Amino acid sequence: MLPYATAPEAEAALGRTMTWAEAAWFRYSVSMPDYYLYCHHIVIFLVVYTLAPLPLAVLELQGPAILLPYKLQPRVRLKPTAYLRCYVRTVRNFLLAMGPVQLLSYPAAKMLGIIRTGLPLPSVGELAAQMAVYLLLEDYLGYWVHRLLHTKWGYEKIHHVHHEFTAPIGYVGLYAHWSDVLIIGFPAFVGPAVVPCHMTTFWLWFVVRQIVLLDTHKGFDFPLNPAKLIPFYGGASHHDYHHRVGRTSQSNFSSVFTFCDYLYGTDKGYRYHKASLAKLKEMAQNSTENRETTDFNMGKQA
Ligand SMILES: [Zn+2]
Ligand SMILES: [Zn+2]
Repeated sequence: MLPYATAPEAEAALGRTMTWAEAAWFRYSVSMPDYYLYCHHIVIFLVVYTLAPLPLAVLELQGPAILLPYKLQPRVRLKPTAYLRCYVRTVRNFLLAMGPVQLLSYPAAKMLGIIRTGLPLPSVGELAAQMAVYLLLEDYLGYWVHRLLHTKWGYEKIHHVHHEFTAPIGYVGLYAHWSDVLIIGFPAFVGPAVVPCHMTTFWLWFVVRQIVLLDTHKGFDFPLNPAKLIPFYGGASHHDYHHRVGRTSQSNFSSVFTFCDYLYGTDKGYRYHKASLAKLKEMAQNSTENRETTDFNMGKQA
């Protein structure tokens, strides 16, 4: 709950007029307990998880030929029941495991001073810097947590559920054993614990994290994906390979960027695979060009 009862009080405390965004935040949160604001994350999760992968899922189920060149594993076609199974299990896991943890973690978040709800709202620069720190921390810690889940015990007892889909779709991003959701979700809280933020940043961080998870699992590599502008971003191609080879290859553990896998040598199989694909493409292109030249010469002779 904000420490001001009226807008003039808030503006007096700020020493200036509220911006449009601050006035909107003031109206929304002025009489709402901080705990309720914190719990918004559960609703935000469900909305983003349900809606963000939906357009591509609908398109993919209809199977238009225009999508096929961008599909990373074009031979795999999942049935609608697989989509439904994935969605239902993830939502069930969230409501029974992650949701209660979210609700119960509020005292710890308050004690650590992770989140503030007052004014001013964070600037764009502050927001961008915090997102960058959170992404880097989650990527580094997530890399090691993911590697631990790929040990014999971790994989057989927990992580194998996430790998039931060898050709992932967006909804697979959070499809996992309930304990996997908690274990792999832990690094996401480290960023806000190290660099405390505003509640709106906290919400946005989890939206960004979810979008990254959905993007890396979507099973398509679209050339105009704006995420490709982010330096060292792994994307769908990087994580799709992790699902394609499963446990055996010990490859591509990072969730966001590519540099941990590069530094620790766990992307060798993936780089070989990419190089092989590029070579095959080049050979196919050369043979088409040769055939066209031959046909053209034969046409001239005829
Ligand atoms: Zn894995
Ligand atoms: Zn995955």
